[in-house]
Amino acid sequence: MSQSPQIGSSGAIKPIDTQSIHRITSGQVVVDLQTAVKELVENSLDAQAKSIEVRFHNYGLKSIEVIDNGSGIKADDYDGIALKHYTSKLTSFEDLSTVLTFGFRGEALSSLCALSNGISVVTATAAETPKGTVLEMDRNGKIQSKGKTARTRGTTIIIKELFKPLPVRRKELERNVKREFGKALNLLYAYALVPCAKADKGIRLTVTNQPDGGRKTLQLKTDGSPSTRASVTALWGPKALDNVVELDLTFQMETEKAVLRRQSTGDGDSPTTICVRGLISKFSPSCGRATTDRQFFFINGRPFSPPKIQKAFNEVYRSFNANQSPFIVADFVIPTHTCDINVSPDKRTIFLHSEANLIQALKVCPWNRHHVSLKLLIALCSF
Ligand code: ADP
Ligand code: MG
Repeated sequence: MSQSPQIGSSGAIKPIDTQSIHRITSGQVVVDLQTAVKELVENSLDAQAKSIEVRFHNYGLKSIEVIDNGSGIKADDYDGIALKHYTSKLTSFEDLSTVLTFGFRGEALSSLCALSNGISVVTATAAETPKGTVLEMDRNGKIQSKGKTARTRGTTIIIKELFKPLPVRRKELERNVKREFGKALNLLYAYALVPCAKADKGIRLTVTNQPDGGRKTLQLKTDGSPSTRASVTALWGPKALDNVVELDLTFQMETEKAVLRRQSTGDGDSPTTICVRGLISKFSPSCGRATTDRQFFFINGRPFSPPKIQKAFNEVYRSFNANQSPFIVADFVIPTHTCDINVSPDKRTIFLHSEANLIQALKVCPWNRHHVSLKLLIALCSF
């Protein structure tokens, strides 16, 4: 039997230094290129921006720049923005179940500082414009330098050389940068389709990339119309709406017993109403797509990737159109207490308390051929 390796030189248990801890936990918030971009875009959305521009330099390897025309950051908040758990959005644990902003953990900017070669912030509030402030932050989220510049209301955040302090992760990103860039774009498509296209707020989203030594190219652009259909046209052209119908389902979901036992409210045993809104390919042959490449899911307007729900959608769809996959934009509108967005630091995993029941209800309720709901019947008849 070989001896187990020694821990440290003496094998004694010692606390990890705070800088290392910061880097380890930051690595859970910003796991890849797409989460880095997502955090910046979400901050712009939380700041009520009407226009957001994302500029990748060399696919994000050199820098990622997000420019918005939102509220700007107040001078009093400068010192706190990139410190761990400093947030303007949540003050107590109770707020968590009702949080409506995308951010609430106060970790993104501090993590991005720890995991990059520094970030620059240029910001101006309505009171300060046309003057703005430039802040250079170091890896600890502390302000290194402060200066003045011309700036209309809003905020620009530039992340330089993501993952530079983590050589292995940096190498990995360099090696797979095209694929990672593709994933980031796909997530930006999701933001264009729902968060930037809500009925009450149309947000212009522009994404460009400038390869090293090459020309800047437009990757995607929406015109700020408050409609998902308008975003689809802006992203893929008007033909992308051919053979696409409205998705509008409402069904009841029983809360799972284990969840009921956990909840001490007592009133949790009544079924929950779930609505699913969006767009889907018509169900007849040749109306779908060859692959599952354009399938986007949301919970209360927040993009998420639910493999089991996606599988259920494809199964239902294939019972009508056996050889194809649908284009899907599906926003699950559910009460905030039935899901938990605080499962993973990157907030990409959303825990649905009664997911199995939800999938069961989704499969049998309005889709079933023998039990077709009126709304779906209209959709089916509009082939
Ligand atoms: P969180 O979003 O969870 O609050 P972040 O680390 O993402 O944490 O951001 C920290 C704080 O910085 C935010 O709470 C907000 O006050 C401010 N902030 C960051 N980005 C912007 C922006 N684009 N516009 C206005 N304020 C911003
Ligand atoms: Mg945030």
